[in-house]
Amino acid sequence: MSKRVALVSHSDYELRGLKYAIERAIDLCGFDLKSTTGKKVLLKPNMLGAYKPSRHVTTNPQFVMACAMIFKEAGAIVSVGDSPNGVFAPKDAWALAGFDDVCKRLGIAAASFEGAGSRNIGGIWISNAALDADIVVNLPKFKTHGLTVLTVAVKNMFGCVPGMMKSKYHRENPDRKDFAELIVRACEAVKPGLNIVDGIVAMDGNGPSAGGFKELGIIAAGMDPYRIDAACSKLVGLDPFEVDTMDAAARLGVINKDLDFEVVGDDIVEIRDFELPSTYTKRRRDWAISRFVLKRIWNNVSSKPKINVDVCVKCHLCVKACPVGAIDAESPGTIPKIDYKKCIECLCCHEVCPHRAIDIVPSFLVRIGRALVRLNRRRR
Ligand code: SF4
Ligand code: SF4
Repeated sequence: MSKRVALVSHSDYELRGLKYAIERAIDLCGFDLKSTTGKKVLLKPNMLGAYKPSRHVTTNPQFVMACAMIFKEAGAIVSVGDSPNGVFAPKDAWALAGFDDVCKRLGIAAASFEGAGSRNIGGIWISNAALDADIVVNLPKFKTHGLTVLTVAVKNMFGCVPGMMKSKYHRENPDRKDFAELIVRACEAVKPGLNIVDGIVAMDGNGPSAGGFKELGIIAAGMDPYRIDAACSKLVGLDPFEVDTMDAAARLGVINKDLDFEVVGDDIVEIRDFELPSTYTKRRRDWAISRFVLKRIWNNVSSKPKINVDVCVKCHLCVKACPVGAIDAESPGTIPKIDYKKCIECLCCHEVCPHRAIDIVPSFLVRIGRALVRLNRRRR
């Protein structure tokens, strides 16, 4: 497998220029487009939920369109698919994200991840839509993530778990390290053949759905999702193994901690003003404290979801999304309440709230940790 990660500088979603830039990135990373002729190619964007492209939560539909055109021209049998967070009807998410339009305009199939059935691969259920493709082309959005720090290529493969099964895995794996290992297992089960990252407008702050927009102007492409994530982490000033999925992959022996990669393409300098999620705490590695101690002081270092009553529209999507039933609404039309004794801090509610009404409130210790990390980053 090629160790190359291609970085191409590109600043907008105008189709013609975008297609050219993506073709260049594919070529630079060493992927042979001709190898896809006659093959079933599944494009797997990030379709977290029913969000308009202007929210930059999902992979931009023009990005998906450009990729679909490239693979169609190469003679591949192209389809597009993803499974949104279980509380969203896939049809709604599909239409609002603009992927419906892409499929109709190009006459390509929209793969139903829920309708295709699933198989258990290495202990995780994966949609047959992904498993039966000859090549999965991973099209992640470059975003921060409250649980894993970043979501790029590896985390995007968790969308191959169909529907509510994702919530079940959250419930069964409350420890973020266990959950990150599960994501790596999903990535290993699917093994995307190519990864092309939409980092033109990324999301920083409290992603993956309520962060800020960040015009990074970057397209990254490569055949190895771990090398892609490593390169993207470094771009925003992170040690790759501070990203939970990368750390989990090393723990599972999927990659080594000395993972090397060759960056080709445009000269892109480290982005210094990329805001990390409030849950990010470098102390996890800097202080090397044991899990036993960590558990004891967890209440002081954790970040909890909090409903902003001024913004909440009482849609109760968060109630449905909570895998452990920690959010309750007395009746329709009331603001839900979070039972912090039950909460496992999976942040699914924060992820699904379409109105950014769930804040992540860091504890006092976390705030101190973040200030120290910022100071440290400025000094570097
Ligand atoms: S917090 Fe968000 S998801 Fe929950 S009821 Fe309010 S608006 Fe809906
Ligand atoms: S309240 Fe939110 S963070 Fe807590 S368990 Fe439920 S979905 Fe997860």
